[in-house]
Amino acid sequence: MNDAIESAADRPVDSQHVLSVVVPVYNEEAVLAEFHARLARVLDPLTMTAEVIYINDGSTDRTAAILEELRAADPRIAILDLSRNFGKELAMTAGLDYACGDAVVVIDADLQDPPELIPDMLDEWQKGYDVVYMQRRTRRGETWFKRFTAFAFYKVMSRLGRVPIPENVGDFRLLDRRAVLALRRLREENRFMKGLFAWIGYRQKALPYDRDERFAGTTKWNYFRLWTLSLEGITSFSTAPLQMASYMGLLTAGGAFLFGVWIVIKTLLFGEPVRGYPTMMVVILFLGGVQLIAIGILGEYIGRMFMETKRRPLYLLKAEIPADSTRERRQTREENAADG
Ligand code: UDP
Ligand code: MG
Repeated sequence: MNDAIESAADRPVDSQHVLSVVVPVYNEEAVLAEFHARLARVLDPLTMTAEVIYINDGSTDRTAAILEELRAADPRIAILDLSRNFGKELAMTAGLDYACGDAVVVIDADLQDPPELIPDMLDEWQKGYDVVYMQRRTRRGETWFKRFTAFAFYKVMSRLGRVPIPENVGDFRLLDRRAVLALRRLREENRFMKGLFAWIGYRQKALPYDRDERFAGTTKWNYFRLWTLSLEGITSFSTAPLQMASYMGLLTAGGAFLFGVWIVIKTLLFGEPVRGYPTMMVVILFLGGVQLIAIGILGEYIGRMFMETKRRPLYLLKAEIPADSTRERRQTREENAADG
């Protein structure tokens, strides 16, 4: 707590300091204007210089056009146009790579994360916290099935993984510059951002909030995508399933051995009038199933290793329109970087 207060000295909220807001957007034409209006109302009174980085994640609707209209009216807006839809995790990565802020806020465009909470997050940042993550008190507008699956996922994750991932926490959070710099060094292809956010450590602080319903439009996450994301989370932060496969093998092999011994004894004592088809089928099917599961688990990891070894860039930009509000700041940063 004390060291948290000490380092707050270099976090004044004056116009010399920049707040970057990173917003991944994918087909959000229905909410974008409303979102920016609400965000602007929050940013206007701030003493910090602000930039709002919209990452257009290959939208196929009017999102790009709306962003340009907004950009024309507000010099704080920067637009990153990805070359196709890369998914929210990579869109966020692009925004974090680009952000030049001393503090960076990641927020959804659908108004489920209320922008009005940003000042509270800044307060905590000023107290010296490096990561201020927003924890949902309620999950309004979500089915019980979604709630249950989310709950089950966090339970499994906290059992298997080494870095505890806080429950009911989305991507809505504030990051200090040094947390952003740390994240930039994690270039893995299989990105489970919630895990990465937790992995970097530093002084983290949870703020409870009520998550609203989507303002308009529909969620881009169906259950299959959520399932894939969960697999991603487990396999990129834990090798426990690999161990589980070996234990399962050991267990079935042990069981099969005992069963074998039993059959020998039984044959010696009572003889064996053939039959035995059901037992044989059960054993064969069971072993076959266990083997397939184990191979599947291996495959998940090998597939990820294969993806990682390619070392592809994580995303590609089609266009990059900087914000006027931070243009100078960006230039001096680049010059400094060039000097050494
Ligand atoms: N999003 C994105 N790329 C995608 C899917 C979503 O950039 O492929 C953005 C989306 O525009 C929104 C945020 O990620 O700003 C959260 O998406 P959504 O509301 O669909 O997810 P949910 O809130 O249901 O988890
Ligand atoms: Mg949403």
